[in-house]
Amino acid sequence: MSEMMKKYIEEAEKALLHTYNRYQIVLDRGEGVYLYDIDGKKYLDFVSGIAVFALGYNNKSYNDALKAQIDKLLHTSNYYYNVPAVEAAKKIKEASGMDRVFFTNSGAEAVEGALKAARKYAYLKDGRTDHEIIAMNHSFHGRTFGALSVTGNPHYREAFEPMIGNIRFANLNDFDSVLANVNDRTCAIIMETVQGEGGIHPVTEEFLKSVRKLCDEKDILLILDEIQCGMGRCGSMYAWQRYGVKPDIMTTAKALGCGVPVGAFLMTEKVGQNSLVAGDHGTTYGGNPFACAAVSKVLDLFKEDNIIENVNQVAPYLEQKLDELKDRYDFIVDRRGLGLMQGLVFDRPVAEVIGKALEKGLILINAGSDIIRFVPPLVISRENVDDMIRILDSCLESI
Ligand SMILES: *Cc1c(COP(=O)(O)O)cnc(C)c1O
Repeated sequence: MSEMMKKYIEEAEKALLHTYNRYQIVLDRGEGVYLYDIDGKKYLDFVSGIAVFALGYNNKSYNDALKAQIDKLLHTSNYYYNVPAVEAAKKIKEASGMDRVFFTNSGAEAVEGALKAARKYAYLKDGRTDHEIIAMNHSFHGRTFGALSVTGNPHYREAFEPMIGNIRFANLNDFDSVLANVNDRTCAIIMETVQGEGGIHPVTEEFLKSVRKLCDEKDILLILDEIQCGMGRCGSMYAWQRYGVKPDIMTTAKALGCGVPVGAFLMTEKVGQNSLVAGDHGTTYGGNPFACAAVSKVLDLFKEDNIIENVNQVAPYLEQKLDELKDRYDFIVDRRGLGLMQGLVFDRPVAEVIGKALEKGLILINAGSDIIRFVPPLVISRENVDDMIRILDSCLESI
């Protein structure tokens, strides 16, 4: 590591609040599926900023769209209309099949909005203020209080108690555990279609369909968090579209802006007409012209560059190659995931492997202490998969 890099890391540790144990590299620029640190070292990136840079780095067409918007208008208040927001809203409606959208600045804020919409929907029905929400163990929905309250990881919540009230936890893919928590106060059930931080657990079709049916019978709203698994990553624009089940409310973020901080919660017309109204919810930045120019361009490029087709071509190959690794090393106990959201489960902590890979120019990340997560840019090729596997394999040999 150069003296310059050391110096920046030292300065960072003096100035930034230490809420992350960061890897010891200072990243400088990106090109396609590669990142470069400030010493010029090249890395193959299988993290994409945690499922963000779907289009790959330094995409010219995307950059040009952002630059054009910068020269026109970065921000206006949500009290006025602007063209990029209209375009982005139309396109995300078409991509998702949902009816109404509210743009936010982040994933956590999208979850906040989804929870508020669900509570308001229930409140308008019966005027009560004791409604409950069922969330899943091992889920992750973000770090703000509402999102944290439905995050099924006590370790993240404990020091910040009390959370917002009336949240119950069930187990993903265990319908009986949902039934055991339902009562006449239940207003919503929230889950990730594929759990990300909690260890790459796709929901089963049987479970999701059972929950959908229960929600229909009891007029409970189904909220699907697609912040990580959405935006083409699992082989359809939104992962739930593969299951033949539609949520009442969904959240999206991460790859939605491909680097520009933006999220959204979307809902069906039924929820839109019977929940949040003027004065109920707002945001200064959410869905500003700059963020929406990004969303709009991202959604165009998904079509023009056949991003989802690429996911469906490369994902089976990635699965096959990861399965081969699993068969070769007995400390790898499982491989699971959907599309280009995959996890390799070890019988031990994976920090050492990830550290070694970084030294060899491969960026990987964990999901929990014993799972390596693969969430590459959606533009990766089979050759990129081969390169990744070769480096990872060489790291595993010495374990
Ligand atoms: C990342 C993530 C969030 C939080 O998004 P932020 O933009 O970090 O607030 C919420 N839900 C899921 C499933 C996520 O992966």
